[in-house]
Amino acid sequence: MLICATCAVEYDEPAPEVCPICADERQYLPAGGQRWTTVTELREAGTTLTWAETEPDVYGISTRDAVGIGQTAQLVRTPQGSLLWDPPGFLDADGVTRVRAQGPVLAVAASHPHMFGVQVEWARELGAEVLVAEADADWLGRRDERIRYWSGVHEILPGLTLHQVGGHFAGSAVAHWAEGAQGRGLLLTGDTIFPNPDRSSVGFLRSYPNKIPLSAAVVERIAAQLATLSFDRIVGNFGNMIDADGQGVLLRSAARHAAWVRGEFDHLT
Ligand SMILES: [Zn+2]
Repeated sequence: MLICATCAVEYDEPAPEVCPICADERQYLPAGGQRWTTVTELREAGTTLTWAETEPDVYGISTRDAVGIGQTAQLVRTPQGSLLWDPPGFLDADGVTRVRAQGPVLAVAASHPHMFGVQVEWARELGAEVLVAEADADWLGRRDERIRYWSGVHEILPGLTLHQVGGHFAGSAVAHWAEGAQGRGLLLTGDTIFPNPDRSSVGFLRSYPNKIPLSAAVVERIAAQLATLSFDRIVGNFGNMIDADGQGVLLRSAARHAAWVRGEFDHLT
């Protein structure tokens, strides 16, 4: 198994000449060209995992020195089992032991292909299944019998559900945990919906590194699709967070985005 050094997504060997995820217009190949690495190489270079409590029963897991895109995974722990969301592109025995100590992991799932990480490797070590949005199946670089395809809405447990909203990728998804945020509801969005640095708005893009927008219709569709869910907190794929009024922030941000791309603010430019 090889790992793309730029996005940290795992690939079966022989790996393609270049990582298709990075060669796509939403990502980039580094100036020096494609480079592959391995879990062993990363481990020998001193890579370790970091843990932080996002909120009670939710843990942010990242790599100390950014591996690939450098996302922060979120482990959601419930009495019935856990979800590992947006898994890192690296793992080690300590990390696996620590995740296992939180109880059985039911599923490993990513918001979109940039966040696949070493999802199959994690799932094998944790005895979990990998949930992949069917619409994004062609982006998989590593196939495995643990992979299970889903589309639309997928219930992992009552109150813990995946929702395919599309946008950034056709299969882009969010995870909703009704009991999260002390019962106010938690939405894990990856960058399907990106909590902005102002902590009071979210963004929606086809490409973040290359700044390609989504249309008004798509952003309004995403907000409408999530309108029936109750959530106060939104957590993105770098631990970036909207701490309160998540549903209101989503609706206001979608309206603002739609107005800008429709040209309603062109007089300001
Ligand atoms: Zn890549």
